[in-house]
Amino acid sequence: MSKIRMLDQQTANSIAAGEVVERPASVVKELLENSLDAAASVISLEINRGGVGLIRLVDNGSGMDEEDALLAFSRHATSKLQQITDLDELVTYGFRGEALASIAAVAKVTLETRQATSSQGTRLVIEGGQLLEQQKSGSPAGTTITVENLFYNVPARYKFLRKDATEAGHIAQICERIALARPDVSFRLFNNGQEILHTPGNNDLLSAVYAVFGAKTAKACLPLANEEGALAVSGYVADPATNRASRDQQFFYVNGRPVRSRVMTAALDEAYKTKLMKGRQAVAVLFLHLPTQLVDINVHPQKLEVRFWNDSEVFRLVYHAVKSALGDGGSILAQTGPGPGQKEQADKSLPWTDGEEKKGQEPMPEEAAALPPVYQQPELLFKEDLPPVAQRPVVQEGEPDPKEAVKATRLTDARLVGTLFATYILLELDQSLLLLDQHAAHEKIIFERLVARHRRHLAEGELLVQDLLVPAVVDLGRREMQTVTAEEAQLARLGFVLTPMGANSVAIRSIPDTGERRLDPEPALRQALAALQQDILQADDAIEEFFYQMACKAAVKANDLLDESQIRQLLLDLARLDDPYHCPHGRPVIISMTKYELEKRFRRIV
Ligand code: ADP
Ligand code: MG
Repeated sequence: MSKIRMLDQQTANSIAAGEVVERPASVVKELLENSLDAAASVISLEINRGGVGLIRLVDNGSGMDEEDALLAFSRHATSKLQQITDLDELVTYGFRGEALASIAAVAKVTLETRQATSSQGTRLVIEGGQLLEQQKSGSPAGTTITVENLFYNVPARYKFLRKDATEAGHIAQICERIALARPDVSFRLFNNGQEILHTPGNNDLLSAVYAVFGAKTAKACLPLANEEGALAVSGYVADPATNRASRDQQFFYVNGRPVRSRVMTAALDEAYKTKLMKGRQAVAVLFLHLPTQLVDINVHPQKLEVRFWNDSEVFRLVYHAVKSALGDGGSILAQTGPGPGQKEQADKSLPWTDGEEKKGQEPMPEEAAALPPVYQQPELLFKEDLPPVAQRPVVQEGEPDPKEAVKATRLTDARLVGTLFATYILLELDQSLLLLDQHAAHEKIIFERLVARHRRHLAEGELLVQDLLVPAVVDLGRREMQTVTAEEAQLARLGFVLTPMGANSVAIRSIPDTGERRLDPEPALRQALAALQQDILQADDAIEEFFYQMACKAAVKANDLLDESQIRQLLLDLARLDDPYHCPHGRPVIISMTKYELEKRFRRIV
């Protein structure tokens, strides 16, 4: 009998839904974005039981006519994207036309909507993708969407949801993030009947900051603004005396979209470096604006990652803006205000030029100068012919996308020169010498593999673990034991199957499979427990950090001698990554030196 079956429509839809709808907060994000796309100015949201019981959103946006209301629930139905070329000039939040269909596949959704110009509204009820009810209704102008019993038909997903309070925390954070991005819109959030957020929508960022962070923090906020060339940053940072134990009050936006950005985070940290106690975090709301062709915002619905054309420019801009907001004016003018004629000076100081040459040119403080070169000249590999941003022409239609130019697929074309100190791999490519850190490269490959598997697991339930033939018995403290019980499902999701043995120890029966050398079970478990004990709002970051630690453990080390076939495999794996240049902490994996630079150093040319 044949083993291959077509998935029925329902199953196929709920698998696809998993991609968009990972947890209640993803539903909230999609609904909020739809309301904003519909030009709502007042949005009210109500949740129960962490959003699993109920999510109800009421907006005063454009509403839909009956035909559109029905269409809105079919997959790939969108009013926002006419052709694929529109993708570049995306101004709306949504565009895939998947969200409503995905949500309706895994919950019961009631839609009530009316356009202001129409006297009658529409009411639809859809459950598990089936239309149960369709009628005319006297709905108010705008749209009300009620989502109930989320994941009722996806037990695998339901099982892995965290405590209601945790999911509610995620939802609150999504709302805060969007509310701060749109001070022109009034947002309200009720959790189990209690109002937990209310922004006025008066188009004043400080009022939104006040609503989200509270009066005390808002009073400590200092305005910030800085511009250089085509880049501009604005927003608020709090006086260092007002700080947090976690990054839950750091919000970054690029061209109005919420993002996570390692570069912006690093610049913020650097500016606060000497002002905060260890383990304390700054409060900041930062808006970066730059021409769209200088930034790559990954439009995958679950991702907020951005990649900048030039990390160093962004770093400097944000760093100096924060510094001067904090009153560290100092030599700011000399630092950020090069006259028009000297603009490219900073770009010319390349990461490998030694300290002497750089002193006085790169005006960052010592710590910043010691920062990974990534912040100074990232992804140099294939774009050194490009002029600095300010001189770079705006990309014309028909020209190859500059982002394509940095694809590392060509790494495998490089000539292997050899290894150095059993730690670095030397390659010749085009007119450059490339140096790869073998540990960083391998670590990055494993990290991406773990993250990809985790995503696949979330979407499809597939889970790869490594079973231990002989369970490892580990003694744990009280807090750790509590985490073992409270986070059983999460631990299983990471690959740990545990059996408690008495009050203070557990037997580890399986561990995460890195696809490489076997992890040492005990430290791996301790790290997972530590990650799961993090602040709830940091949960995703903590899991990423855990994968990173596991990748570090499983990767080849410096001083491990690799043979040529191992090196070739490494290059092949690396070339497949979107970003082979940086480790997850932003440190470089590859650095390069051009032939031109070498010739200059040897004074063959002057
Ligand atoms: P997308 O936002 O990617 O277009 P969705 O599945 O989120 O896809 O929504 C489908 C369509 O339904 C949207 O393109 C829009 O036309 C309509 N829609 C959804 N929510 C609202 C709303 N709150 N107000 C008005 N129209 C909406
Ligand atoms: Mg949408």
